[in-house]
This record gives sequence, structure tokens and C-alpha cells, in this order.
Amino acid sequence: MSNEFDLTVIGSGPGGYVGAIRAAQLGLKVAVVERDPKGAGGTCLQRGCIPTKALLHTADVYEDLRNGREFGIVAENVGVDFTALMSRKSRIVTRLSKGIESYLFKKNKITFVKGQGRVENPRSVLVTGADGSASRIATKNIMLATGSKPRSLPNLPIDGQRIITSDEILELKEMPKSLIVIGAGAVGIEFASIFGRFGAAVTVIEMLPRILPIEDEEVSKEAEKHLAKHMTILTGARTESATVIQNGVQVEVTTASGERRSLVAELVLVAIGRGPVTDGLGLEATRVRMERGYVRVNNRYETDEPGIHAIGDLITVDGKPHAQLAHVASAEGIRVAEKLAGKPFDPIDYDRIPGATYCQPEVASVGLTEAEARKRGYDVVVGKFPFGNLAKPRIVGHDGGFIKVVSEKKYDQVLGIHMVGPHATDLISEACVALQLETTTEEIAKTIHPHPTLGEAMMQAAESVYGMAIDA
Ligand code: FAD
Repeated sequence: MSNEFDLTVIGSGPGGYVGAIRAAQLGLKVAVVERDPKGAGGTCLQRGCIPTKALLHTADVYEDLRNGREFGIVAENVGVDFTALMSRKSRIVTRLSKGIESYLFKKNKITFVKGQGRVENPRSVLVTGADGSASRIATKNIMLATGSKPRSLPNLPIDGQRIITSDEILELKEMPKSLIVIGAGAVGIEFASIFGRFGAAVTVIEMLPRILPIEDEEVSKEAEKHLAKHMTILTGARTESATVIQNGVQVEVTTASGERRSLVAELVLVAIGRGPVTDGLGLEATRVRMERGYVRVNNRYETDEPGIHAIGDLITVDGKPHAQLAHVASAEGIRVAEKLAGKPFDPIDYDRIPGATYCQPEVASVGLTEAEARKRGYDVVVGKFPFGNLAKPRIVGHDGGFIKVVSEKKYDQVLGIHMVGPHATDLISEACVALQLETTTEEIAKTIHPHPTLGEAMMQAAESVYGMAIDA
């Protein structure tokens, strides 16, 4: 048997490890190279999706316990044991990472190679281990899945101690008393929602006019209204500088009204986006084309170098930046694996990628916002239904927010579904199926939903497109 692999994947994040497993399931001989000493899983598992959601869940439990009397629970002296909550988070991460390495990779006969991967040529990957030892992987194909890292700006010099990124905030030893979050995208808002509810004085500074700027405008506004109970939010505000002072950081801000303000906090979290990881990858020696530091691929994830594909946070597709999300990376990894195994190529419709922010209330969406649908020339109709009109949200004690359905008149097709409210990040999956099946508004309205559930809000939001919601 040849020692040559059919596919070598560099990076074991949700793009790389998922793509590798699908390729192995389809009969390919696969190797995965990972340089992170913490193990497999990538940003998502080691320092992204999973640890943040573990902390957010504790914040949810803490909030409910503090409101215990509302539920008839007498819980005295409810407090946060920061060390215990951080160790729980780490235990969850370690267990899942070991699950990929020791169970999933073994079960699928994937060779896991620890070390820095470097493309020598399209048929060879050089791996340098932590001890400096080098080995070579002969391969027919390479999938680059090296992901992304936090961005910084010259006026926000990250020192890893006081001015930090999402990487360092997940390793804190003590709860900060005060925190300034720069950037109100999903990452910034999730950390603000964690520490704001744990009692830290949190200020969020966002340059754009609203938080979660890629969401539907009404959703952003509703989320801001609720989040503002636990934090100060400055939108339309420019961060001029951040300077480390004794025991904290001083941040100079120009507010939306043009006023100059000086803010001080123990820590500053810079959450202004993420850039591609290509250091040490050896792409200069290949024909792989780069675009603003990202690897440029076509809509089949092919780079300009035959035999080398790229996916996930690392890429731009046909010159367009694309959503840096775990499920996008996984879907792309699967597409490449299926293509290499000779399966028909099933292109991804990037208009149907769900987004989710796990703050409280949760925010989730799929499809076109109302503004985008109008911009594309659709004859738009909108239905909106508040969670507060239903029984289940009252029972679970979280009844703020709404579901909004954006449809078009001609064929009654649903174009987008947007929600802010309890368990929105779980409820959105129904909307994903609806869009995937090109469902009409009437079909959602006529689908019998169980009672009493949060999902009834979806049915009634569809009914409300025609002014027919029962509980409105
Ligand atoms: P990554 O996950 O970044 O994995 C790349 C891997 O490649 C890493 O393990 C890295 O060590 C390895 N690598 C890099 N270079 C080399 C090399 N030369 N040799 C060997 N190995 C190499 N997305 C969601 O969908 N939902 C969420 O809730 C969510 N929450 C997030 C919260 C935070 C705080 C952050 C920062 C991100 C979050 N994301 C979330 C985004 C998500 O983590 C990324 O979109 C996803 O991890 C990208 O997957 P990837 O496989 O492209 O790359």
C-alpha cells in the first residue's frame, strides 16, 4: 500500500476536522495536521464558540437564580465562583477536543499529526513538531483550513494583560470589576453579556450606528434595549486611543454627538474582527492567490494552485469576504471532501447561512433582512410577533423580543426570518429548514406547532404577515 494520502488537511478547526471525517467516510486516506499544543478543535472549540457558550450558560443560570423569587425559589447568597466556572469551561473544551482526537479520528482511521504544517509543493506537506523534529506527508490533495486570529489596530495595542482579545479573556484568573468592549459584533456582545450579568461595569463602544450591525435593524434595536440593563452601550462612537495606566486602561472616545470622553476600566477587550492565519504555511512558494491576506478561492473552494483547496475563516470566495462562522467552515469542508471523493458538487447558498448571538436575549437570523430584501427589489411584506403574547415565554420567565418574518408578495416565499428572544439560537433551525425548502409564508402559518412552546411565535409571525395572528 502506498504511503501517499489522498488528502492532507492543515488545521483541525470545525472546517478541517469535519472535512477530514467526511473525506474518510467516503473512503479517502486522510491526514490532519494541527499545531495547537492544546489539541484538535481550532478556534471554535479551543477559544471561540464552545468556551464562550459555557460561560454564557453560567450567566443564564446565575440570572435565573438571582430572579429566583419570581419562580418561587428561595436562593440566598447566590454568587459566582469564577475559578469554578472557568474550570468547568476548560473541562468541557478538553473533553470535546480529546473526543475528536481519540474517538472521531481513530474511528475514521484519520492520521493526526501534531506540528506546524508547511506546504512544500501541492503533493507534499512538511510538519515540524514542537521539539523541532520534521516529517513529510506525501499527498494527492491539500485542504488549507488554518482559520483566523483576532485583529488589532495601531491605536489599540494588544498587550495581552490589560488590552486583550477574545483569546486572553477566556483565560482570566479573576473576574474583572470593569470592562470596556470595543466592537459590538457577536463576539463583543457575547462577552459584554457574560461579564455585564456577572456584575462587572461594562461599556461597549461601537463605531457603527447600532449593535450587531449585520442583523435586521429592528432586531438590533430590540436587543440593545434589553442588553442596556446590564451595560452601557455607546454606538456611533469612535475609539481614539487606549492607554495602559496604573491598574487599568484609559480609553479616549468621540461619541456620536462629537463629545470627547475619557473612560477607565480594569480591562479593554478588543473585538473588532478577525484576520486570516497563513504564517509559516509556505504559500509564497505556490500559485495560491492571496487577497488582503486571505486565500482566494472560487465557488468550489479551489485555489489557483491545482490540488490545493481552502475553506473556512481563511478564505474569500470569488473575491467576496464571507461569514466567519463554524458551521460555514464545516459546510465548506464537507463540500471539498465530497468533491474529492467524486460526489456531485452541491454549492452553498450564502444567503441561507444562519447567524446566532448567544447573549440574553438571544439573537438569531437566516436569510435576507428587510432592508436587504427591499434593496434587491422584492415586493416585501413583513410580519412580526412578540414572544410576550404567548404562554411559554412567560412560563420560562423570558418574554422579551419577537420573531420577524420577511416575505415577498408575488410567490409568498419567505426571504428571511429574524428573532430576538428566548432560545432564539435554537428556534432558528426551523427557519433554516423553511428557507432551504423555499417554503411559503402560508406553509409556516399552516404548520401545526405544539402548544405551549416558544416555536408558536414562528407560526404566529407567519400569520401576522397577513394580519391573521391569533394572539396579536
Ligand atoms: P479555526 O477554527 O480557526 O481552526 C484553524 C486551526 O488551524 C487552528 O486549530 C490552528 O491552530 C490550526 N493551524 C493554523 N495554522 C496551522 C499550520 N500552519 N499548521 C498546523 N495547524 C495550523 N462561530 C460560530 O459559528 N458560532 C459561534 O458561537 C462562534 N463563537 C465564537 C466566539 C469567539 C470568541 C470567536 C473568536 C469565534 C467564534 N466563532 C463562532 C467563529 C468560529 O470560531 C470560526 O468561524 C471557526 O472556528 C472557523 O473555523 P476554521 O476551521 O476555518 O478555523
